[in-house]
Amino acid sequence: MKYALVTGGSRGIGRAVCQKLYGMGYEVLINYVSNTAAAEATLASIDGHGELLRFDVADAQAVKNAIESWQAAHPEDYIEVLVNNAGIRRDNLLIWMEADDWKAVLDTTLNGFYHVTHAVLQPMLLHKFGRIINVTSLSGIKGLPGQTNYSAAKGGLIAATKALAQEVARKKVTVNAVAPGFIHTDMVEGLDEATLKKDIPAARFGDPEEVAALVGFLASPDSSYITGEVISINGGLYT
Ligand code: NAP
Repeated sequence: MKYALVTGGSRGIGRAVCQKLYGMGYEVLINYVSNTAAAEATLASIDGHGELLRFDVADAQAVKNAIESWQAAHPEDYIEVLVNNAGIRRDNLLIWMEADDWKAVLDTTLNGFYHVTHAVLQPMLLHKFGRIINVTSLSGIKGLPGQTNYSAAKGGLIAATKALAQEVARKKVTVNAVAPGFIHTDMVEGLDEATLKKDIPAARFGDPEEVAALVGFLASPDSSYITGEVISINGGLYT
């Protein structure tokens, strides 16, 4: 059995990534925080080849407990692919932004990266194979007004990707990031797609499966010599 953990695997990009990794032969640990029905639908869509791991990535103790319990139940196995995908947005101009909204976004994306990666990294190093793929955003590269919290979190995630990649490359663990533009998921519900797509050279939003294909490549042995990279997937919106 090969195991992959996808944070935020219940919906959107995370669900498509679970399906892609299942197609590559992985048993998928589907993390989510609250939407059990959606997580169960993801598990059903991969023919039950995985399990649900409910925890809040922002909660250090909850992450530690969940990963340690899984490891204790699978002493011969390890998580060889980690996709840090869980994310939220709480948009507002900084002048109006409440501290809670700043903190929630940083806690989920950036502290979540630390909590989960720290919990699964050592077995990857011991087995001398691992893949860590961080789902960042165009917002973390360019910076978007109304998203200083989200841009800061995703920009921090990019820097963390580059730093960690250099720490673990000798152990054949690669660390890369994907940076989507606008992708059809619940997260972009309510955005004015007709207006926004006028600025996208490809003239459309992307689909979760297109992001999942890129994540699948970065998880595969074919990408062994790629590490510390940030690959944009945005229809040409920003290069
Ligand atoms: P989505 O449809 O809103 O799904 C978010 C996922 O994250 C859900 O599975 C949710 O679980 C999970 N989640 C949220 N907070 C969590 C927490 N504290 N702990 C564990 N899981 C948590 O979002 P999406 O569009 O697929 O986004 C996935 C990633 O892509 C995010 O990091 C997002 O920032 C990034 N991204 C998205 C776009 C886009 O246009 N959609 C663009 C750039 C980057 P529940 O189902 O339990 O709520």
